[in-house]
Amino acid sequence: MTTLIPLFADQLSHGLSALQFADRDHARVLMVEVKEEARSVPHHRTKLIFLFSAMRHFAEELREDGWAVDYVELTDPDNTHSFTTEVERALDRHDVAEIAVTWPGNHRVLEAVRRWEDRFGKRVTISPDDRFVCGIEEFADWAEDRKQLRMEYFYREMRRKTGLLMTADEKPEGGEWNYDKENRKPAKEGMVFPETQRFQPDGITRGVIAMVKAEFPTRFGHADGFFWGVSRADALVSLDNFLTHGLPQFGDYQDAMVTGQDFLFHSLISPYLNAGLLTALEVCQAVEARYKDDDVPINAAEGYIRQIIGWREYVRGIYWMEMPGYEEKNFFGNTLDLPEFYWTGETDMECLRSTIGQTIEHAYAHHIQRLMITGNFALLIGADPHAVHEWYLSVYLDAFEWVELPNTLGMSQYGDGGLLGSKPYAASGAYINRMSDYCGNCRYKVTQRVGEDACPFNSLYWHFVARNEDKLRGNRRMSMVYRNLDRMDGDKRDALLEQADGFIAGLKTVKAEAYL
Ligand SMILES: Cc1cc2nc3c(=O)[nH]c(=O)nc-3n(C[C@H](O)[C@H](O)[C@H](O)COP(=O)(O)OP(=O)(O)OC[C@H]3O[C@@H](n4cnc5c(N)ncnc54)[C@H](O)[C@@H]3O)c2cc1C
Ligand code: SF4
Repeated sequence: MTTLIPLFADQLSHGLSALQFADRDHARVLMVEVKEEARSVPHHRTKLIFLFSAMRHFAEELREDGWAVDYVELTDPDNTHSFTTEVERALDRHDVAEIAVTWPGNHRVLEAVRRWEDRFGKRVTISPDDRFVCGIEEFADWAEDRKQLRMEYFYREMRRKTGLLMTADEKPEGGEWNYDKENRKPAKEGMVFPETQRFQPDGITRGVIAMVKAEFPTRFGHADGFFWGVSRADALVSLDNFLTHGLPQFGDYQDAMVTGQDFLFHSLISPYLNAGLLTALEVCQAVEARYKDDDVPINAAEGYIRQIIGWREYVRGIYWMEMPGYEEKNFFGNTLDLPEFYWTGETDMECLRSTIGQTIEHAYAHHIQRLMITGNFALLIGADPHAVHEWYLSVYLDAFEWVELPNTLGMSQYGDGGLLGSKPYAASGAYINRMSDYCGNCRYKVTQRVGEDACPFNSLYWHFVARNEDKLRGNRRMSMVYRNLDRMDGDKRDALLEQADGFIAGLKTVKAEAYL
């Protein structure tokens, strides 16, 4: 009798809890490339290539390690393209006593797995995903009875729990918990950025590229020029490259944006972390070691570790605490579909053209581009947060629902009304001008508020503030903004609102389904 161990695309870890459940001589691993998942939203072709290739490499490694693996490729004529029916087919092929699964990264998939026991009449054990620092129940306990959930306090708990950047007497290394105020510098002119770690596609990856091009010929995103790693060995090389060349300046220039520089000092490891090729703790320990060796300053090491044991763990806790239902939240009642240029990159607004352009090319944009360019613009025009969520889930290589949804719907669109962030991330062109060189290359004038050449972000910002007054005026962190609105000359205000109304009315919008 066998234990069937279905593995999902983001469970490519040799230490996965489900793989500890059974002795490899009495187990069969099941891995499936399903169209059900590939077709739920129009996933970028680079993302499909990355995931299918990483899955195939992982299956090979498991086999070399002595595991029996059933691997169902996308083009297998018998593939039913649903995970549940593929489990059913595997049960017909093998004498299965029970099924062992690691907690999936998506609520809908978890619900499907929970129905397997009744459907198949076999015991199904769902074990916790211990690749995270904080358990789901542990987060819920932390959140219980707190009026406000603030990442900073959760993060401090995680520092204490892991001992990362803590002194022997349990104080934060360097005396401060958080060095964020040092991490907001714009890039300097002529600055040299590290080489991005690129990998030559091997035979497996080349096969997957050909398959994805054939199966998804009109799908969003480039399929050529694929350079991402697809195995744990690749991911470790990437991490090492970042630790040596990117980390020392990561902190200082974390929020900077530069035309034509798609990666700056960022690590590009979120796809590897999220697919399971690296673990959060090993990455943070490697960063801490560089700090202890005096290779990197404290603001870089702390800033980086905070992103992982702070933000990454925090959004996961929020996701599982709030699902189901979180995906439907829409605090402002926004209904607009996204502009077509989110899918084509064809716009005169340089900040959006650059960010969306590199997204189409590499399935990558860094945090501030996602938050303050595409996210900010969607918020200002009043885009439906669910449509925004579908876009982010589609277009980024690292997008899995547990991490993407709270970041998009919560942090960026304020769809949850402030559960995740204390005020909306809304900004006019001045912020973008301060943190990037986009405005210098743009046909619009960032200092102008009305008129044909005025930067659209400027009037849209005040339109957002004015139209959501009933929802935001009471927010203490918005009081200065409303004082400025109150002080604004009436004609000036009307002209700004009229300008933004005209701009929004002129947008050509489209639904994500058009790109499936
Ligand atoms: C609207 C929006 C959507 C996002 N969607 C995703 C997503 O689908 N998947 C995803 O992994 N990240 C998402 N993020 C967070 C962040 O943008 C990416 O993790 C980061 O850009 C990945 O690139 P990097 O590896 O070079 O990151 P770096 O800038 O080098 O940061 C280091 C690591 O910190 C972690 N991290 C940083 N910020 C966050 C965060 N807010 N939430 C979770 N982890 C974080 C990531 O694992 C990242 O690899 C989103 C942010 C926003 C504003
Ligand atoms: S001027 Fe406005 S639209 Fe143009 S790049 Fe700057 S912020 Fe973006």
